[in-house]
Amino acid sequence: MSTPPYQDLKPNILSSSNLTNENTIAKLKITMTKYIFVTGGVLSGLGKGVTAASIGNLLVSQGFNVWMQKFDQYLNVDAGTINPNKHGEVFVLDDGAETDLDLGHYERFIDTSLNRTSSVMTGQIYKAILENERAGKYLGQDIQVIPHVTDEVKLRITRAAKESKCDILITEIGGTIGDYEGMHFVEAIRQMRHDVGQNNVLYVHVGFLPYLGASEELKSKPIQNSVHDLSGLGIQPDILIARADHPVEKSMIKKIALFTGIDVESIIPLETVDSIYKVPQILQKFNADKIVAAKLKLKIKNGSRTKWNEFIKKIEIDKKKTVKIALIAKYMGLKDTYFSVTESLKIAGIWQGVKTEVDWIDSEELENLPPKKIAAKFKEYDGILVPGGFGSRGIEGKISAIKYAREHKKPFLGLCYGMQLATIEFARHVAGLKDANTTEVNPKTSHPVIHIMPDQEKKMLKNDYGGTMRLGAYPCKIIDNTKTAKAYGEKNISERHRHRYEFNNEYREILTKKGLVISGTSPDDLLVEIIELKDHPFFIATQFHPEFKSRPLKPHPLFYEFVKSALK
Ligand code: GLN
Repeated sequence: MSTPPYQDLKPNILSSSNLTNENTIAKLKITMTKYIFVTGGVLSGLGKGVTAASIGNLLVSQGFNVWMQKFDQYLNVDAGTINPNKHGEVFVLDDGAETDLDLGHYERFIDTSLNRTSSVMTGQIYKAILENERAGKYLGQDIQVIPHVTDEVKLRITRAAKESKCDILITEIGGTIGDYEGMHFVEAIRQMRHDVGQNNVLYVHVGFLPYLGASEELKSKPIQNSVHDLSGLGIQPDILIARADHPVEKSMIKKIALFTGIDVESIIPLETVDSIYKVPQILQKFNADKIVAAKLKLKIKNGSRTKWNEFIKKIEIDKKKTVKIALIAKYMGLKDTYFSVTESLKIAGIWQGVKTEVDWIDSEELENLPPKKIAAKFKEYDGILVPGGFGSRGIEGKISAIKYAREHKKPFLGLCYGMQLATIEFARHVAGLKDANTTEVNPKTSHPVIHIMPDQEKKMLKNDYGGTMRLGAYPCKIIDNTKTAKAYGEKNISERHRHRYEFNNEYREILTKKGLVISGTSPDDLLVEIIELKDHPFFIATQFHPEFKSRPLKPHPLFYEFVKSALK
């Protein structure tokens, strides 16, 4: 599809509002992009992200070019600085954007690598406005939420549409309707319909029907109220998704339709399911794709869902076989902290007809256990995975788990910190460098096998985003005749990073002489990206995060092979 024939909206800097400029509106009205805005009501945690992603999934399989975007209310500039224990994992995109984990759902459901335009936090908006203000760009105007903040929001919507050249942009508004902090987003998306025309904007609202145990019934009042709140802000939803933990009767839908003015066909009940990947199917059963297409005046293209359906079928297969994976965790507080890791494991299992059970083991609990107790703990597991992390808490526990995996030939996968700690474990216990460590934990170690490369630090500092972290996709060269090469089946790969420390090249020789295999490096050979062990069924650890590139229809080769080896 060609680029929509309108120019990028400039933020509202020179005129009182560029968007009231008739020329701009005329241009926007002839854009070919259709916009879907997804809001949430009643309570958070309803799976609004999965719902938005599922709509995307359906539209992709109808042959549309879909792009997705998330708005977050936080005053953070990006998700990089938010504690994963509170907010869930930080999902990293190819271009290094550190985002909310919903972006992971989007990428997995629409099978598209997104970019920085897909993740907007309120902090970004205010930062831009304040920078413009300090640079004197508003020429003496009062700067106001409307139009200045809302214009910055709209700029980010139209920019994402333009740069991605998508047919349909789906934007999820974080939080719930009524949140004080989300008003600028709601107002901006309300204005969008006015700016680009009725047929080009669709509002989807996701609400909840609570179940009252005493009277054994679902209650519709909260969802009615939430639609009323949204209407009070000038947005009448076109489609209402009614989430529920219990079956929703037709009479309930009729009642909601009566009280909200939304047509019965456009109210879609969405009961909680055992796998999020089934959500598109359910939405399709209720014609969500057809309704969207009709309301946006889009011609449905009757694409194919064969592959996704095949995947769903595999989920359904009665799984007598299970693999049990021990995930050595530091952040135990929230299920979402290692979301992409557990999804990657599950997906790898689904394609092999097995159920992957992931148990979280608190790394701190392992710290003072004698080897016998460690062995007893891990006996029941088919594989051990050490994910990424930061800081010193719990790392000795992770090292004990790695030592066990190495010595007892348990399949092991190390991710980022997991790779660094595997290097440390090897240095200490195989190469005899007793004090080996990362300078992140012990800056005074006599054997800094993991450290910050001075050159690397300088390079990262030049990067505007994220200070000294290596963020986003980097190419990696796989070394021939390694298990890694066999798993990938290709020589040149690209994987996503999020770390500051690197393998110290001064220890390459010592460690490889002792049997450590470097199975992947940066193309210039300067950075160690993957390590593995020879006499071990599966012991691979990566400096990058392969979990960010695993997709339902394309299980990541390392996760696939790890699960396969655990199955044996
Ligand atoms: N803490 C390590 C580093 O900064 C690893 C980071 C991670 O696991 N994402 O290099």
